[in-house]
Amino acid sequence: MSNFEYAPAPESTAIVDIKSEYGLFINGKFVAPKSGKRFTTINPATEEVLAKVAYADLADVNLAVTAARSAFTKVWSKMPAAERGKYLFRIARILQERAREFAVLESLDNGKPIRESRDTDIPLAAAHFFYHAGWADKLEHAGMGNNPKPYGVAGQIIPWNFPMLMLAWKVAPALATGNTVVLKPAETTPLTALLFAEVCQQAGLPAGVVNIVTGDGVTGSHIVNHPGIDKIAFTGSTGVGKAIAKAVAGTKKSVTLELGGKAANIVYEDAPIDEAVEGIINGIFFNQGHVCCAGSRLLVQENFADELLEKLKRRMSLIRVGNPLDKNTDLGAINSASQLARIREISDSGDLEGAERWSPACNLPQKGFWYPPTIFTGVSQSHRIAREEIFGPVLSVLTFRTPQEAIEKANNTPYGLSAGVWTDKGSKILWTAQRLRAGVIWANTFNKFDPTSPFGGYKESGWGREGGRHGLAGYLKAGK
Ligand code: NAD
Repeated sequence: MSNFEYAPAPESTAIVDIKSEYGLFINGKFVAPKSGKRFTTINPATEEVLAKVAYADLADVNLAVTAARSAFTKVWSKMPAAERGKYLFRIARILQERAREFAVLESLDNGKPIRESRDTDIPLAAAHFFYHAGWADKLEHAGMGNNPKPYGVAGQIIPWNFPMLMLAWKVAPALATGNTVVLKPAETTPLTALLFAEVCQQAGLPAGVVNIVTGDGVTGSHIVNHPGIDKIAFTGSTGVGKAIAKAVAGTKKSVTLELGGKAANIVYEDAPIDEAVEGIINGIFFNQGHVCCAGSRLLVQENFADELLEKLKRRMSLIRVGNPLDKNTDLGAINSASQLARIREISDSGDLEGAERWSPACNLPQKGFWYPPTIFTGVSQSHRIAREEIFGPVLSVLTFRTPQEAIEKANNTPYGLSAGVWTDKGSKILWTAQRLRAGVIWANTFNKFDPTSPFGGYKESGWGREGGRHGLAGYLKAGK
């Protein structure tokens, strides 16, 4: 029994019907792009082309905004709120019914393990629609006055790390509050958004309420700069978020930004060690570390560090890296060649600046984009790997002696999205949480998400909240 191995357990792809070519979803129909241009989306685990996707330029964005405006004025803003809610319930139920199809497609286009797309991304996306469906006819209780009003047309731009979940975070509150939508998915992961367009058709959603335009950052900037858009909701990098904030300054547009992070995961000497190790693993290796709120800076109490790191390394040796569609895979593919290059570049700076790198032995596939689970010890606060968002499976380990030192180090970042605290003392959790400048703080757990709970950051991690009652405020003008 010395060579005990898991048998392969691949999820079948027979359930997905990937078309060779996709149009733009405008005014309830798939249409050819006016630009005449298309780009390919690939499977990052194999580098195989999955489909050709339409590229939207300004003429296409104009059509999408016109469709969204017309749907807002003529249909969506006039519809009784309870009726609007019914469409959201219908979409939520269809997402549940087609969950496996969405999960397989997400893993193919993104590279994330099927275990995660099946058990996290898609169920949570459906949960966001269910949750917001319930709000549609109760908006006078949202804390925005008796008769809060939608902005009108929302331009929404999302990243590639949780393609379908980020779509749900954007589209569900926009529709529940009575706005119509022009959404642009990321260029490397457009396919589940296009499948969602089919769901909108299946649900009988009135034409133009949701429009989906595929393309790159230039397409995104056409949305941001469009005079017919009333509200911009963006999730992505802090650099692009800053450019968007500048672009909308002085216009009538309202804006919410969900940006990057460099979260501290603080482990005190009295933490339950095995649970903490699992939490650290989940905090940084979930979704290949392509997580804005990843626990990418481990702060461990110095007298406890050797014992914890030994257990952490042993646990990291058990991480299974490989085929995202295998149900036993823990760590899938890096989403793109450019993201892999970025992870390599920042990680290499860790070597150059004197930190000590460790990865377990693992056989990475020949084709596709892969990076092994990695930790750096001997990291100081000035190192790039302690300051910059790597957005990959790379953990930087720092130590502290006193709780005050932990707080100072944790808050020593331009970001403030999330943090974790591990200790067996409730009072220490509260003491620490009160002093951390982060939008979400998990205690003795990590990366837990719920549509009822607002999510968002301080400082360079963004403006506004998504989810919960607070998230509705981003889509409503206060009424009397
Ligand atoms: P990115 O900013 O490069 O791209 C995000 C989206 O913006 C894509 O759809 C892209 O096409 C578009 N875009 C690019 N340039 C644009 C421009 N000038 N104008 C308008 N749109 C433009 O980010 P990314 O690399 O795709 O995603 C990773 C980043 O997203 C990380 O920094 C991560 O922390 C962040 N993120 C944040 C959250 C959150 O909720 N805070 C969630 C997920 C990801």
